[in-house]
Formats: sequence, structure tokens, C-alpha cells
Amino acid sequence: MNDIEIMQLGIKEAEKTMAENMGGPFGAAIVKDGEVIAVSSNHVLANNDPTAHAEVEAIRSACRKLGTYDLSGCEIYATGYPCPMCLSAIIWANIKKVFVCGLPEDAEKIGFRDDFIYRYIQDRMQDKDTLEIVELDRKPAQELYEKYAAMNKIIY
Ligand SMILES: [Zn+2]
Repeated sequence: MNDIEIMQLGIKEAEKTMAENMGGPFGAAIVKDGEVIAVSSNHVLANNDPTAHAEVEAIRSACRKLGTYDLSGCEIYATGYPCPMCLSAIIWANIKKVFVCGLPEDAEKIGFRDDFIYRYIQDRMQDKDTLEIVELDRKPAQELYEKYAAMNKIIY
């Protein structure tokens, strides 16, 4: 399969689930060594889950299928430019290459807020109407982290 054919898998999946009112017009496919591991689409409405974006759904599916949290060596095809959450999930999963069709401004044209969130982050998250981050005492978290580090657990 070439890049366009793989991207079409995500587009077809998105067309199917958006017609069933399961979520927005976004699909994704994950490939490893030329094999399609997962194809998914946006399931925000079906799952009542604001994090059920196509890329996150595809990452979850690929991780289940491969039995790992580490998708090193995989590539992801996303019909839309990943939002900040999905971009982070892709980086957490150690995926090093993203193929995209749509851009954030394309999603914004039909009312999605990807570009708005990118601007919020670029503006150093100072807009308290969007999100207020309140810093409490750091000590409990530091103690938790130190316990984890002392247990020599995996850092991923
Ligand atoms: Zn997303």
C-alpha cells in the first residue's frame, strides 16, 4: 500500500463513523514495517469521551494489538493535523513520523478548536477563561515521584 492508500483507510473509517454520528470527520491509521496495525476514527460522541480522537483511538488499538505502550518503528497517518493532545500522545508512543492531510485551520473552518488550542499554548496559556492552572503545594507530588524513582520502575 502506498501513502495515499493508507490515508484512504482513515478517510473511509471516518466517513463510516461520522455517518453513524459516532464522531467528527477524522481518521487515522498506524503502520509498522509496511503492515497496517490499526485503523480508527473519532469516537468522541459514541463513547462520550472527549479524548477519543482518531489518533488516540488508533494508538490504543495498536498498543493492544502489539501488547506494548511503545510504538517505536510505527508511523501514523492522520486525516487531520493532530491536535495538541494527539500530538502529545504520538510523541508519548514514540512514533517518529506523522503523515497528514488536513491542517488545523481546515478543521477550524468547520468549527473545531485545534488551532485555538495551539494558539492558547503558544500564548503561554495565560488566558484564564480557557483554562486556569492552579499550583498547590509541590511536596506531595515530589514525594510520590521519589517513591516511584526509588522503586526503579520503568520511565517511558
Ligand atoms: Zn486530537
